[in-house]
Amino acid sequence: MPKPPPTDAGALIPDRPTLEKLRTAAKDCQACDLWRLGTQTVFGEGRSNAELMLVGEQPGEAEDLAGHPFVGPAGKLLDRALADAGIDRADVYVTNVVKHFKWEPRGKRRIHKKPNAREIAACRPWLDTEIALVKPRAIVCLGATAAQSLLGRQFKVTAERGVFVKSPLAPLVMATVHPSSILRAPDDETRRDETKRLTADLRKVARALAKRRP
Ligand code: SF4
Repeated sequence: MPKPPPTDAGALIPDRPTLEKLRTAAKDCQACDLWRLGTQTVFGEGRSNAELMLVGEQPGEAEDLAGHPFVGPAGKLLDRALADAGIDRADVYVTNVVKHFKWEPRGKRRIHKKPNAREIAACRPWLDTEIALVKPRAIVCLGATAAQSLLGRQFKVTAERGVFVKSPLAPLVMATVHPSSILRAPDDETRRDETKRLTADLRKVARALAKRRP
């Protein structure tokens, strides 16, 4: 009888993991059904000893096709906000709580669909191991899915964005909005204002990190 697929990715974490070993193992992950929907696993990327880790929800359409996180329109907005905050994206590790693109068809388009609790839990061992290996001094959750997954279901990004919260995950932990929510803003003025607020949140993290450097 064929072996049933694991209920979470924990069984796939290699012994003595490294980011490279993890990325390779995650390619074949079938711990939830999202592997059937996505083109490929989109694993985290960036500096292996990054001070700052950014955690989003899941790869989008562009990321699914490219196989890299935050490379689509939301990623470009994030890049600009990081640069304006004085942070070099090359120094950051970027990842998602869920590593496959979840979508539903609308006509010929693939429309983003929020991952559910079961999918988030199934994927969590990948993220936990990324955090354990990179050991970032700051983690920024981008959007409600990442924030509630890492900081608890009660966490409200609308009320607590830009505020450092106590967490065993890293010395500095904050949540802010996901850049894709800024792209969905109803008009240019709101988009500009929201981009400024995202930049301000990232700048706050950059300053806090700089203060703590020996
Ligand atoms: S979303 Fe995560 S747990 Fe689900 S198949 Fe993809 S890598 Fe595995």
